[in-house]
This record gives sequence, C-alpha cells and structure tokens, in this order.
Amino acid sequence: MGINSRKVVVVGCGFVGSSSAFALMQSQLFSEMVLIDADQKRAEGEAIDISHGMVFASPMKIYAGTYDDISDAAVIVITAGANQKPDETRLDLIKKNSRIMKSIVGEIKKREFEGILLIVSNPVDILTYIALKESGYPANRVIGSGTVLDTGRFRYELGEHLGVDSRSVHAYIIGEHGDSELAAWSDARVGGLPINHFDHDASMEKIFDHVKNSAYEIIARKHATYYGIAMAVCRICAAIVRDEQSIMPVSSLMQGEYGLEDVVLSIPAVVDANGIETVVPIELSEKELAQLKSSAEILKKIIKENS
Ligand code: NAD
Repeated sequence: MGINSRKVVVVGCGFVGSSSAFALMQSQLFSEMVLIDADQKRAEGEAIDISHGMVFASPMKIYAGTYDDISDAAVIVITAGANQKPDETRLDLIKKNSRIMKSIVGEIKKREFEGILLIVSNPVDILTYIALKESGYPANRVIGSGTVLDTGRFRYELGEHLGVDSRSVHAYIIGEHGDSELAAWSDARVGGLPINHFDHDASMEKIFDHVKNSAYEIIARKHATYYGIAMAVCRICAAIVRDEQSIMPVSSLMQGEYGLEDVVLSIPAVVDANGIETVVPIELSEKELAQLKSSAEILKKIIKENS
C-alpha cells in the first residue's frame, strides 16, 4: 500500500495519547491522524475535541478509527496501557501492559503496515522489545521513546542551573527509561564546553536525582505525566517524517554496541524516515559503562522472566 508520510496513528487515547495527539495537531507535521482506543467513545471524544482546535492550526483530518485505517500510516504511536500509580515503578506495569502490547501488535501485523512503530507505554524498553519480537519487523522500524523525555528534563534542569537556554545543553540520560537510568556526564556539553568545566559536582548529583525522580514527583501531585512526553513524541515524529537524521536517545535494539546484545534500551541514535539509522556510540567513563551494563542486565532479567 505504501507510506503516506503525512499520516499518523495514535493507539491509546488516555492522558498520554490525547496530549500527544493534541501536540501533533499543533505541530502541523501531519494532514491525517487516526485515534484508536479500546474505549471507542473516548477516541471519538478526543478526535472531536482536538478537531475543534484545528482552525487555529492548519487543516487536517482527525478521526476515531480502527486498525483497518492504519496500513498507509508513516508512524503508529502506541501509548495504550496502564500508567504508574503513586509508589509504583514502571516495571510494576509489565504484566498488564505486555498483554495489551501483544494484542495491539497482533492487530497491526494483520495489516500491511510499512511505517515506524513508536512505543511509548511503560515499561517502554521491555514493551519495545516485545513489539519488536511480536511484529517481526526489522529493528530499525521499532523505536521506543526511551529516555528522550528524561533527556529533555535533564537538559531543562541543567539549563536552569547554569542559566543558559536548555537547547544549548547537550547531555543525555541513557539506559533504561526507569530507575536504573544514568546520566552520561562524560559526554555532556554546554555550548561546546565539557560540563565538568563548570565544576558543579554536588549539584550534578542533585540534578540527576531530580530528573530520575521527576515522574514520581509529578505523579504524586497530579496522578499522571503527559505534557513532556507529548512534546517528546512530537519531536521523534518530526525526525521520522522530515527524514531529519536527528540524534536522540530513543530506545532501540542493541546489536553489539558497548558489548550489549538482545536488549532494548536508550543510547543516542540517528533517527530518520527509516526509523533508527544507526546508534551513536558516545564516550562513557568506566563507571558509566558499568552502570549501563547493569541497567541492561536488569532489563534482560525482566525480559527472561516474562517470556
Ligand atoms: P491512561 O490510563 O490515561 O490511558 C491509557 C489508555 O489506553 C486508555 O484510554 C485505555 O482505554 C487505553 N487502552 C487500554 N488497553 C488498550 C488496548 N488494548 N487497545 C487500545 N487502547 C487501550 O494512561 P496514560 O497516562 O495515558 O499512560 C499511558 C502509558 O504511557 C502508560 O503505560 C504510562 O506509564 C506511559 N507513559 C510513558 C512515558 C514515557 O516517557 N515513555 C511517559 C508518561 C507515561
């Protein structure tokens, strides 16, 4: 059927799916957006509500659809599944959400979809691995939003701390999107200067802890997180449909990088119309490499226990 680069599908229209759909409408990246949810009425309501903002953005077709509408989409964003409750980790969601992911990918697989699968539901690394295996698609076409959001939070916090525009901060959170993630300080730069140049050791630790615990802090106050991830979804979609070759820490299948195999986690990667073009092996200290490997081990153990 081919790919319509102006068409996107969002599966799951809860907080994250509807916010992503709203951000995607405003982004003007697409001219057609299909919303799918197990709760059809919810998808219909969101499609109508979001459509009413269109006159202030630009024309597009937004509708609640079915899997029969997905075949020519460039990107399918999957946000379906339970979210974290206060005191739950992302990994606590695995049983429920892996069942949901398998059923959604099963539906997608029945159609001739040739675009990119963008997985957002948590635990995102495990669910991206499941989507990859269930779909049988090549690894470049199955991407997790990974630590793109955490990296956004990190750059924001560093920018605030240093008093510079967060877009001038280049620093990554890598590994699991979750409790074992790490900050790649060795590679972090502000306006081209290594971040260590700023000599803020104690603050560095505080900033990282703050970033790592952001979701818990937000969920404790408002029961869910969705605006930040919606912007991250939009940014990843832009890199795909504009064929940007942008570098971002999406979650992808490791195939020997850093000695890691058969596990999905976040390392900066070049993202374009093919999905993941290549992983970018950034410089890590020995300590960071050990942390990354331990993050991978945690994920591998969970995959083994749940397969
Ligand atoms: P939510 O409960 O508000 O929405 C989930 C939606 O999924 C509901 O509308 C539900 O009807 C739908 N759904 C359930 N099973 C389905 C199925 N089989 N097919 C289609 N739709 C189905 O939850 P939320 O706050 O929107 O969170 C969604 C997911 O996104 C959670 O797993 C959450 O942890 C995750 N999340 C990820 C990130 C990230 O950075 N990757 C950030 C925030 C939230």
